[in-house]
Amino acid sequence: MDNIKYLILGAGISGLAFAYEKRDSDWLVLEKESHPGGLCQSFYAPGFVWDVAGHFFHFHSDKTKQFVKEMLEGVELCNVTKCAKIFYADRYMSAPFQYNIHQLPPDEFMQCLTDLYFATEPQGNVSFKEFVRQKFGRGISDKFLIPYNEKLYACDLDELERDSMGKFLPKLSFDMLMTFYRGQKGTTYNDFFLYPREGTMQLINSYMNRLDTSRIHLGEAAISIDTDNRTVHTEKGDYHYEHLVSTLPLNNFMRMARTGKPDLLHSNKILILNLGFDLPSRDKEVNWIYFPGDEVFYRVGFYNNIAPREKMSLYVEIGCRSDETIDIEKMLERTLVDLKRVRIVDEHRLESYHPVIVEPAYVHISQQGKAETDCVIKEMQSRNVHMVGRYARWEYSAIDDSIEQAQELSNII
Ligand SMILES: Cc1cc2nc3c(=O)[nH]c(=O)nc-3n(C[C@H](O)[C@H](O)[C@H](O)COP(=O)(O)OP(=O)(O)OC[C@H]3O[C@@H](n4cnc5c(N)ncnc54)[C@H](O)[C@@H]3O)c2cc1C
Repeated sequence: MDNIKYLILGAGISGLAFAYEKRDSDWLVLEKESHPGGLCQSFYAPGFVWDVAGHFFHFHSDKTKQFVKEMLEGVELCNVTKCAKIFYADRYMSAPFQYNIHQLPPDEFMQCLTDLYFATEPQGNVSFKEFVRQKFGRGISDKFLIPYNEKLYACDLDELERDSMGKFLPKLSFDMLMTFYRGQKGTTYNDFFLYPREGTMQLINSYMNRLDTSRIHLGEAAISIDTDNRTVHTEKGDYHYEHLVSTLPLNNFMRMARTGKPDLLHSNKILILNLGFDLPSRDKEVNWIYFPGDEVFYRVGFYNNIAPREKMSLYVEIGCRSDETIDIEKMLERTLVDLKRVRIVDEHRLESYHPVIVEPAYVHISQQGKAETDCVIKEMQSRNVHMVGRYARWEYSAIDDSIEQAQELSNII
């Protein structure tokens, strides 16, 4: 049996970021798929570059931004100033909704403003639905925050706990409202972002180019994990570890390690349709649009306005329950009808498309699930098993978080 100091499960951004930190030590990555990258994949069709839905580099820390820029040295990067919109009541308005309520018809603006004035700081263990209603008032919540997030999470928001979206839920103050009302630009963490012209996979390639790839075993899935004896079993053999770093979805990890109650962890799944058309897009500025209404999709992004290309290139995201059977062709048909209705498609003809299903995509953070997650992560830590990344920690986080978590862990173990 091989003895490995740092055994890493998964070659997505989290696994590779940790391997990179330990590149001069004894490490090994086991990856189920025949390619690295996890959700940071890119797909190529003539004239089009697509990801698993657009994967853009937003940063909370300048240090991480600098690090990623150095990793991407030599890669053509697009520096983008965000332009996001919302399709509400048959009109386009600016996003985020809560800062731009002055763009609503006057009676709806007054309703949102009055409800916001009487809003109170939520107290105690309220659900996510109750949390947003108390914090932002009924107007903003019932017009956008609740219908949009119910489409995205594909569940009743009463099932989620109050802080489910954490830092991704834009904060709101009257000062901020006035800033936007006066037409000035307020600042949110993702006003600017970076994107490699040839897709997010470029970041994965940059890591792969700097690592000894003979230590990355592609097509070798972990099947079972024995945390008493510190071994991982695969179809090709057994590995003994000193430290195990898992980036696998926590519920799957729990099943493999026979620990905790994985059935308490729930998530949605999403269908992503990457669509390439024969004509340019009408809107040359928008990066993505949120749809809280009855369209089949909750968000549509424009790759061609992010990494400029002549023809319209979209990603369309559709939230589904985890037990739902997805009929891709039917969803594509509905999508094309709805894209016409919202005036994104007119004379356009679909040239090529690429569907991807992601599960888990957005984890459902419930009170019970969170308690179970915290308990399992703590118990595993005491056994030298460490979780890194959005799905391993069963949270709402992004690529920069994966990189920072990997760096922080590497400083400790
Ligand atoms: C629709 C969508 C859009 C997003 N957009 C952005 C964005 O714009 N910007 C951003 O920063 N973040 C974005 N994110 C979040 C981002 O995708 C994640 O934070 C990040 O990719 C997580 O990386 P990871 O390595 O932790 O997990 P993954 O990418 O899921 O990697 C885990 C790896 O483990 C492998 N694996 C699974 N089971 C096994 C097994 N048994 N044995 C061995 N290997 C196994 C998988 O094949 C995979 O390669 C988005 C997420 C979604 C769903």
